[in-house]
Amino acid sequence: MRKTLLIFLALLAGHIGIAQPAKKLKTIIVDAGHGGTDYGAVGQYEHSLRSGEKEVTLAISNKLVDELRRRLPDVNVVPTRTTDIFQSPTEKAQIANSNKGDLFICIHADSGPLKSGRRQVGTRTVTR
Ligand SMILES: [Zn+2]
Repeated sequence: MRKTLLIFLALLAGHIGIAQPAKKLKTIIVDAGHGGTDYGAVGQYEHSLRSGEKEVTLAISNKLVDELRRRLPDVNVVPTRTTDIFQSPTEKAQIANSNKGDLFICIHADSGPLKSGRRQVGTRTVTR
């Protein structure tokens, strides 16, 4: 009787899914937002150092891809772009689907209005 009860409990525990292993992550898609003719947001840092969102997202994406490949050697890491090219959202989705992506990381770096304050850019030598 006791043996039957233990077997029943073991079957019940298996049936209700206690401690099921997590699905293994096989492929990560890293998408650098914008690109090519699509600049995205444009920074107005000190009115002279202008940066486009497409360049910021590409730099972040390239570094993230390198880091993910280094830290997760068993995971396939696929960037949607590695250079400054335009891709439609449909094209990016096709890249993700054709590579069977389990996770899609989409990088954006939007802008906001400048806050008031003071910044110092560079240095200057004064002779007296
Ligand atoms: Zn954006």
